[in-house]
Order: sequence, then structure tokens, then C-alpha cells
Amino acid sequence: MAPEENSTSTISRRAAVLDGAGLAAEIKREVAADVVQFCQTNKRRPCLAAVRVGDDPASEVYVRNKIRACEEVGIASEHHALSASINATELLDLVSSLNARDEVDGILVQMPLPGGIDEAQVIETVNPTKDVDGFHPLNVGRLAMGRPTFVPCTPAGVLELLMRNKIPIRGASACVVGRSQIVGHPTAELLLQHDATVTICHSRTQDLKSVTRQADILVVAIGRAGFIGKDHIKPGATVIDVGMNKVTDGALARELFGDQAQRRLEIIKKRGYTLVGDVHPAEADQIAGWRSPVPGGVGLLTVAMLMRNTLKAARMRLR
Ligand code: NDP
Repeated sequence: MAPEENSTSTISRRAAVLDGAGLAAEIKREVAADVVQFCQTNKRRPCLAAVRVGDDPASEVYVRNKIRACEEVGIASEHHALSASINATELLDLVSSLNARDEVDGILVQMPLPGGIDEAQVIETVNPTKDVDGFHPLNVGRLAMGRPTFVPCTPAGVLELLMRNKIPIRGASACVVGRSQIVGHPTAELLLQHDATVTICHSRTQDLKSVTRQADILVVAIGRAGFIGKDHIKPGATVIDVGMNKVTDGALARELFGDQAQRRLEIIKKRGYTLVGDVHPAEADQIAGWRSPVPGGVGLLTVAMLMRNTLKAARMRLR
């Protein structure tokens, strides 16, 4: 679908939707077909072990979605739910035992971990060949060197969304707002490897708008509901919204969604919150060429890319 104009008397633009949900379903279908082949050849299924510590409700939902996706594509899964009171040694022992088990191909430890547990130490304990999140320093280094590796799932999803929608990356001016190790940084790395001219912004960037307004491709991952407005966006730009923020306030939802707010208000009434990205949807729609929605954008792709990484781990380990 190309960016289009509404045929109202005022002729207002509306950005075209980058459909993450449809693409995630497509990628899962592809993975499922490859899993069938893998099973026929190797007489076993690829297997993902998910580790969760404590009872953070968001982590519970994330892990449940990942396990459900495994079931959809035919990947075997294990869910290790540990009490928040465990100590670091017990967690590291579990990870080491998963490393040692031949039938486990991929290991993911759901972050954040409860305070007192050193996340970096846990990440470094995961065997790099089973590191389907792509967080281990060895895999981070390989990505930086442009070597084959496990690409972190959210950045891989962002790239997939751009490429399958044929958004030109080579030579484009790309701006990534946010420099975290799991999203911003690797996304910038991938865009650079695809020949974009990349700028990374963060909380200390001065005059953010003047930088983001230069971007043909704007990727936002900061964790602030609706922060990026129309003044941040170059007309016609492609805007990828990675943010996932819970909004409970009906007035804010009305402000962010304009004439589309009714459905969001109903969701708040039913669930207590609605999910909102880092981009102001109503404003971005007036100026962007393409926009990924929240929900229905990058989030679903993250899970699909995890499935792909798990299959990749299983294949790599055969070699
Ligand atoms: P982090 O908190 O680790 O990083 C946030 C980044 O945003 C930091 O680099 C920070 O800068 C920057 N930042 C914060 N405020 C501003 C500002 N006002 N202007 C410019 N930069 C700013 O977050 P994550 O990368 O983990 O996540 C970002 C968002 O993406 C969150 O909403 C999260 O929920 C979502 N997310 C979504 C996923 C998905 O599957 N869709 C997966 C992972 C995350 P500095 O470094 O200077 O502090």
C-alpha cells in the first residue's frame, strides 16, 4: 500500500501503515515450513528454553507469547519460571545446565532480572551458540564486525519491516533515537551495514528535532509515550516506532489518537491501559509517508525473529 491522501474536502494526508502483524505471520509461516523440513531430516524438533525470574506481569506476558509462538511454528519449548528469591548462583547453574543439554538449541533469559542479579553476568553465561537473543558480547562483537551472528530480535524485525516493504535503505539518511544495547545500538549497526547514513540520538542530544527532521528513516526506541511529534519528522519519512508504553489516562489517549481515540478509550476501560509507542500517532500520520503502529508493528516481529533465530541455532549446532 502506498502513502495516500484522504478524499476529504481538506485533503489531509495519512501515513501508510507498516503492517508488522501481517509480516510477523508471514515470517512464522516461513519458519514453520523450515521447521517441518528440519524435523524430517533430523528426527527432532528445534527447542527453545525460556527462563523467567520473579513475577513481573509484563515479563510473564512476553514469555507466554514466545512459548505460544513456538507452538505455532512447531518449535519445542521449555519454560523455567524461577522465584524472585533465588540467588544469582542458582540462576547461573540453570543456564549452565541448559548450555550442557544437547537437545536445547536456544536459551533466552527474560529481562529485566530482579535487583541483585547481575544481568551482564547472566548474558555472558549463555553459550554464544545458543544465544538466540543476540545479547552475548561475542555475538554483539560479531554484529559490529559484520560477521554472521544472531542479530537481536527487535532490530532484526525493524530491518525486516523496512526491507519487505521495499523502503530504500541504501544511501538513505537514517536516524535512530535511543542507544540501548538491545534496540537502538544494534538497529543503527544494521542500518549502517545496509548502507544508510546513520545518526544515533539519545537523551543528551541537543536540538533533537533538527536532527530527526533530516531522516528519511526514523527509528524511535526511547520509552516515552508519544514523544516524537510532527516537528520531529521529515515530510514523507518512514517512521518505525519501537516504543511500548502503557497509557492509562483517557485524556492522553484522546490527545494522541485524535479521531481514532474511541477504540483506545474502550481498551483502557476494559483492560486498564492501552499500549502506545514513542511516536505521537495522530501527528505522525499527518506528515510521515509510512508509520509502524503500536501495537501491531515491531513487537510482533520481535517474537517472529526469535523463532527464526531458534531455528538458525538448531541448524548451526548440527554443523
Ligand atoms: P532503554 O531505557 O534501555 O533506552 C532508552 C534510550 O532512549 C536511551 O538510549 C536514552 O538515552 C534514550 N532516551 C530517553 N529519553 C530520551 C529523550 N527524551 N530524547 C532522546 N533520547 C532519549 O530502553 P530500550 O531500548 O530497552 O527500549 C526502548 C523502548 O522500546 C521502550 O518503550 C521499550 O518498551 C520498547 N521495546 C520494545 C520492544 C519490542 O519488541 N517492540 C523490545 C524492546 C524494547 P541515554 O542513553 O542518554 O539514557
